[in-house]
Amino acid sequence: MTVDYGPVEAARALVAADLADPRWDAALDAAADHRRWWVQQWPDGAEHVLGLLAQDAQEAVHGVDPQWPPCREPSCEEVGRHALFIEPDLGPDPFWVCERTGLPVAPVGHLNG
Ligand SMILES: [Zn+2]
Repeated sequence: MTVDYGPVEAARALVAADLADPRWDAALDAAADHRRWWVQQWPDGAEHVLGLLAQDAQEAVHGVDPQWPPCREPSCEEVGRHALFIEPDLGPDPFWVCERTGLPVAPVGHLNG
């Protein structure tokens, strides 16, 4: 069976852009390795890889910085004081979302512009 690793590589690049810090490269590589295995087991899951990899990365960062990435939704009363989260948990086109207001802030991969 031929496995297309493309989705994992594309997702890794987008999540790395959001992390914007090389100190997370090792954690991101480990998460990407796991997701390559995961897509092998479930090729139909390719569309979920970006959101899952972003959640993997956020979990790793939260070991050090539980507020990453900080909310910057202008209408949020707690802007800068809580982390954004990925929605949907499972599905294509994941977004960083302010859970206080329910508003999307940026697509995964575009947190930094
Ligand atoms: Zn917020």
